[in-house]
Amino acid sequence: MRPFEYARPQNESEALDLLNDHDANTAVLAGGTDLIALLQEDLQAPQRVVDIKQVESMQGIAADGDGVVIGALTTLEEISESPMLADYRSLGDVVDGVRAIQIQQMGTLGGDLCHLPNCWFYRNGYGLLALENGESLVAAGDNRYHAILGNQGPAKFVSAARFAPALIAWGADVRVIGPDAGSSEWLPLEHFFVTPKVESQGVSVLKPGQLISHVRLPATTGRVSSTYEVLQMEGLDWPLATAAATIDLDGGVVREASIVMGHVAPMPWVAHEAAQSLIGQPVDEVSAGRAGEIAVAQATPLRDNAYKVQLAKTAVKRAVLSAADMLEGAL
Ligand SMILES: Cc1cc2nc3c(=O)[nH]c(=O)nc-3n(C[C@H](O)[C@H](O)[C@H](O)COP(=O)(O)OP(=O)(O)OC[C@H]3O[C@@H](n4cnc5c(N)ncnc54)[C@H](O)[C@@H]3O)c2cc1C
Repeated sequence: MRPFEYARPQNESEALDLLNDHDANTAVLAGGTDLIALLQEDLQAPQRVVDIKQVESMQGIAADGDGVVIGALTTLEEISESPMLADYRSLGDVVDGVRAIQIQQMGTLGGDLCHLPNCWFYRNGYGLLALENGESLVAAGDNRYHAILGNQGPAKFVSAARFAPALIAWGADVRVIGPDAGSSEWLPLEHFFVTPKVESQGVSVLKPGQLISHVRLPATTGRVSSTYEVLQMEGLDWPLATAAATIDLDGGVVREASIVMGHVAPMPWVAHEAAQSLIGQPVDEVSAGRAGEIAVAQATPLRDNAYKVQLAKTAVKRAVLSAADMLEGAL
């Protein structure tokens, strides 16, 4: 680990001032469960680490009209225990999947959304795109955990943001602040993530010196939701494929639906056509299974990860059935 300055701002504008020194060669520290590893491995070498944990405005969960605003520093545990989020079941499902109490207590929502890929090429210092002489090391190498959708460009990692599918399926917005103190913007979380074409693009629209301060969820308006993660291990593990579904049911028939897949593409993958196929249908194994088929119809698996197509298809089917409380006994 290289030496760096450590700063602990007390409010948002102090945080932005500190982040924008040193030509913004700085890093945000929240729970630190991943950033510390990135620093230790020299994958990030900021001149200053800005520890935002004391910034009060970015903590906790509050009502926002009929919806809810969640501070970026809210921990996974707080999300799962908040009565205000009880009706957003797909979020609790994500926390349940992170089967380590330590991570649930330390990890934050902002840290999850900005989590850099777990791709082993990236984590071993080959960069996000892992290109050597213009050739993809991922395409030629061990790509069993890589993308099956959106992978035709140089980016073949999968987005690590575990809450993103559930939040996007709920139509969440994210508040980005900076780089100047006082500048802030709400944007749909769906538009926050990017699939980089060049290394410098990163994995989100965040520019140096910016950070996420809050996430806003709309009112549930009676909609139901679920996240289904396919995990290899019972312990701490990253999903192989995830699907989140939010559904508006009217007399047993789907009036509106949103399906978003995770860990299958360099960004959360919104399955519009799959969701559309549910409209006007009752939720059952046939309609949920068809949505799964449609969700992966455009998949382009790499050499070692065709198995993920089946996992993603099943994740979609089960997320849809689970949202409607029909997973029990289903295949
Ligand atoms: C050994 C280990 C194994 C883990 N395994 C898993 C696992 O299998 N599954 C799983 O889901 N999680 C796992 N995690 C937890 C993982 O780190 C979580 O995603 C956690 O939510 C990250 O939150 P954090 O606050 O600790 O992030 P940090 O480590 O503080 O930050 C993560 C990244 O986000 C940036 N960042 C943080 N907050 C903001 C913000 N508000 N705005 C802009 N950028 C920000 C940081 O600069 C950094 O790049 C593991 C952690 C550890 C230590």
